[in-house]
Amino acid sequence: MSAGVGNGNGGAPHSHRPLGILAALPQELGDLIEAMRAESGVRTITHGQRDYHLGTVHGAPCVVTLARVGKVAAAATVSALIHAFDVDAVVFTGVAGGVGAEVRVGDIVVADALLQHDLDASPLFPRFEVPLLGVSRFAADVALADQLAAACERFVAEAGAASAARFGTREPRVHRGLIISGDQFVASAAGVEALRAALPDALAVEMEGAAIAQVCHEYGVPCAVVRTISDTADDHAPASFVSFLTEIAGVYSNAILTRFLDTRGAAL
Ligand code: SAH
Repeated sequence: MSAGVGNGNGGAPHSHRPLGILAALPQELGDLIEAMRAESGVRTITHGQRDYHLGTVHGAPCVVTLARVGKVAAAATVSALIHAFDVDAVVFTGVAGGVGAEVRVGDIVVADALLQHDLDASPLFPRFEVPLLGVSRFAADVALADQLAAACERFVAEAGAASAARFGTREPRVHRGLIISGDQFVASAAGVEALRAALPDALAVEMEGAAIAQVCHEYGVPCAVVRTISDTADDHAPASFVSFLTEIAGVYSNAILTRFLDTRGAAL
């Protein structure tokens, strides 16, 4: 059911349903809304205390919005993207804490699956399983995740060395695998160790992705999540997160989304 805000294709003459793009924080969107303004103009609709920006970027019709932080915020926002804005797929972009042993600050993780690490209704249901849904690991859409990962690999090939020199990080690596989400900013060696022990294949921890993946699973909407590693979820995480968010996150987001949307827009 639609709230009557149209298909969000920014007035373009084709009938493609838009892609929903969301992040938690404004820095994580980079210059996406400015790029939309320059290309097609932006129509902004406020719904449930969030601004949804409708237009076209690199030829791809999009609805761009900010979820704010946490699983409930993310679930509410993605639900609106599906029901009020009729998106045909959802992409989340943002930063996360590295959990996997090989995952360092400046790396990029594209989710194959997402899990809520703070969900525990045991002994009634297995730890991490969403009660009555019977799922603990929500799969990302394979085609969408492949396209995102390809965009990340192109960014690294074309600009990874320059980015590493500019930001003092190592040359970024792109990882694929499990992203875990919970309503906690993980910022202690003990906290990240506990997550590693419980979920040895987890690559990154954040606060929104698995909630988005659950809602998309329930409504049959393809979704994908890309996260740049801002910290390693240990005692250095608060400082590392803040400097990465303010100085680097937007640059990465621009670099990845530009390449991703370019391919998507060209395919329409
Ligand atoms: N008050 C802060 C809130 C940021 S919370 C601010 O507005 O600046 C951290 C955000 O980054 C969340 O959206 C989460 O998804 C992600 N994130 C980055 N590092 C994280 C970590 N170590 N643990 C959990 N989430 C993390």
